[in-house]
Amino acid sequence: PDLTSLNPEQARAELARLADLIGRYNTAYYTEDAPEVSDAAYDALRKRYDTLLALHPEAEPADSAARTVGAAPDSAFGKHRHLVPMLSLDNVFDQAEFEAFIGRATRFLGLNEEETAKLAFVAEPKIDGLSISLTYENGVFVRGTTRGDGTEGEDVTANLRTLKDLPERLHGHAPELIEIRGEVFLSKEHFLALNAAQEELGRKPFANPRNAAAGSLRQLDARVTARRPLSLFAYSMGFCSEKTTFSHWDYLEQLKAWGFPVNPLSMRLEAASGAEAFFDKIGQERAALAYDIDGVVYKIDNLTLQERLGFAGRAPRWAVAWKFPAEQAVTTLKTIEIQV
Ligand code: NAD
Repeated sequence: PDLTSLNPEQARAELARLADLIGRYNTAYYTEDAPEVSDAAYDALRKRYDTLLALHPEAEPADSAARTVGAAPDSAFGKHRHLVPMLSLDNVFDQAEFEAFIGRATRFLGLNEEETAKLAFVAEPKIDGLSISLTYENGVFVRGTTRGDGTEGEDVTANLRTLKDLPERLHGHAPELIEIRGEVFLSKEHFLALNAAQEELGRKPFANPRNAAAGSLRQLDARVTARRPLSLFAYSMGFCSEKTTFSHWDYLEQLKAWGFPVNPLSMRLEAASGAEAFFDKIGQERAALAYDIDGVVYKIDNLTLQERLGFAGRAPRWAVAWKFPAEQAVTTLKTIEIQV
């Protein structure tokens, strides 16, 4: 039924139903690495929930799964509390939605038109893997965790140590304590090979490289992870005991100097007006990349402004993910196949 025609009681029931479904799909996706529905179907469900909640904010279910990030850590792993929470990202799907994001951020900061036109961004491919947090004490890797529910993650230190891309020690001067954030992923080639091997062994294939990467890292036996050729891109910072840089771009340079792989396609944009051209360029390169991406992340470059903007709900106000519509195309194809 049309959402606007629901009375408050019906809206409350529908929101509770949608929140339950979101919670169930989150568990399948984040905890079991085996999604029950396509990302497009999941995103459509969330959109329906958000639209209805905007019409009936008073009817929000208590402990709604739609408010959370990811899913609670699996009890099979040790739990670790992040010093700075690990959040999600708000999504946009077109230029108008991207401009609305710029409008919200610049209004929050009180920037005038001229200042807004000069606001610099860093644009990075959005890697379709799972986010991890790496803790270094005096330059030595001591702990690695998954995002979990954003507050507490799963301790996967031994598994992360098997990644060839992960520096055991930071090169050069390192802060006393730092949390480095990045994405662990499996290349398209290794994903296909892994699924072929899974099928040969009579095991269920992974739905996509993201789930294969998560399933490979979240193993109780690190020897299994060691056999899966996982890769890493570092892209941001959680807690840091000292001020290292003032811009996100300089921070990416610092990450490289410490020895981390940083995505070479990342680019500093002098203004938001360059976002669409970058999105189109990455879109064209996407199919030829060795790994899956599902969009472009735009981050305000100035770290002082990032701090002032802070977070709203489950996502930062200073960044946004501009997503590709690919999943929808796949779904349309499937629908057509079914109709035929
Ligand atoms: P998200 O994947 O949309 O965005 C946040 C994540 O982007 C970060 O946690 C980080 O891991 C990642 N990222 C990749 N490159 C990055 C970069 N350069 N800089 C910063 N972050 C970067 O958020 P989410 O909350 O993890 O999940 C939502 C997504 O998961 C949706 O696409 C949704 O469809 C899918 N999902 C699907 C199901 C399902 O059942 N099919 C269930 C839950 C979630």
